[in-house]
Amino acid sequence: MTLTPDRTGITPRRTAAEFARAEQRTAHNYHPLPVVLSHGEGAWVTDVDGRRYLDLLAGYSALNFGHSQPRLLTAARRQLDELTLTSRAFVHDRFADFCTALADLCGKDLVLPMNTGAEAVETAIKVSRKWGYEVKGVAPGAARIVVMGGNFHGRTTTIVGFSDDADARDGFGPFTPGFDVVPYGDIAALEAALTPDTVAVLLEPIQGEGGVIIPPEGWLREVRTLCTQRRVLMVADEIQAGLGRTGRTFACDHEGVVPDLYVLGKALGGGVVPVSAVVGDRDVLGVLRPGQHGSTFGGNPLACAVGIEVVSLLRSGEPQARATELGGVLHERLAAMVGRGLTSFRVRGLWAGLDVDPALGTGREVCERLLVRGVLAKDTHGSTLRLAPPLVVSSDDLHWGLDQLEGALS
Ligand code: PLP
Repeated sequence: MTLTPDRTGITPRRTAAEFARAEQRTAHNYHPLPVVLSHGEGAWVTDVDGRRYLDLLAGYSALNFGHSQPRLLTAARRQLDELTLTSRAFVHDRFADFCTALADLCGKDLVLPMNTGAEAVETAIKVSRKWGYEVKGVAPGAARIVVMGGNFHGRTTTIVGFSDDADARDGFGPFTPGFDVVPYGDIAALEAALTPDTVAVLLEPIQGEGGVIIPPEGWLREVRTLCTQRRVLMVADEIQAGLGRTGRTFACDHEGVVPDLYVLGKALGGGVVPVSAVVGDRDVLGVLRPGQHGSTFGGNPLACAVGIEVVSLLRSGEPQARATELGGVLHERLAAMVGRGLTSFRVRGLWAGLDVDPALGTGREVCERLLVRGVLAKDTHGSTLRLAPPLVVSSDDLHWGLDQLEGALS
């Protein structure tokens, strides 16, 4: 696709110029839709030519609370005037409040704050291995971690090393050893893969990048039981699925499952700053001692000030309630599109993976049609689209966005 004509048919001049400038001066590790945004509020964004779009991606769930959420912006602005960075060499006055609030939200003892999702996943891997050596008694260098087929946990060399997505993995080796991949949702395969040297099972309770893949009912509970029986840590990467998106605080809550480690990111920073964390009990996270892990920016005052407010928003239960209620609308509307543009779909809360009839074009082509209609969405693999509107979207706006989807599929 070249550039989107605007909805009145006029060539969007500033968009064209800014988009071309951006493409000229960046490494092409992304293939963005041809839109250049300059403002956002709630579920809506505006481009440099003044056109508005309904955001049905929400920063891959980093914007669960919407663009420019007033409480988050106020917390950030206040903190900007006080203190923004200390490093962990010194303690600052927002640190204890953030760690306490987040630990309590998770029902755990300790928080290890980082910045990005991939960093938090790396942290969980390191903690699991150390726990394996020091607590479980695995021989030095022998620790193994079981991961799931179709996983997406980030972009570091260790993480892409156990990805089965060729684009993510190929050309970046050699990789870190010690990972075993089993099919997602297959409890027998997981059981067969566990050895005395297995220290952790790392999973997404719902696979977001994979296309919002929901495992079979009961699987998470079976994983929990197996991990407990075999003395293996259950590590839940809730970076995309957690913090309200699915209608519960954590996606694991749908099965009443509590993992040993929660890995959190994205919405934890409220779409304002990158904030991630690993949250667990003292008997696991307590294996780290000074000098063994760290981050210059992890747990900085600005991140903590925003994170405290994020936890407070989740404590109200409102984002979760909205995700459940609007998820019903999403489900109903998508069900009506099966056989009329969609071949299948999956919904949990306000989060959906849609498989577009390949005869209608690729997922990317459908997103380009949606863009012209004033809706931002993103394909994931082939003809699969993922919808993750901000949880603050109104019911009318959601219906309007889904009307546009119907139009784009017809
Ligand atoms: N884990 C999951 C489940 C994700 O969806 C993502 C990002 O999409 C990550 C980890 C990596 O997060 P980040 O891009 O912040 O490193």
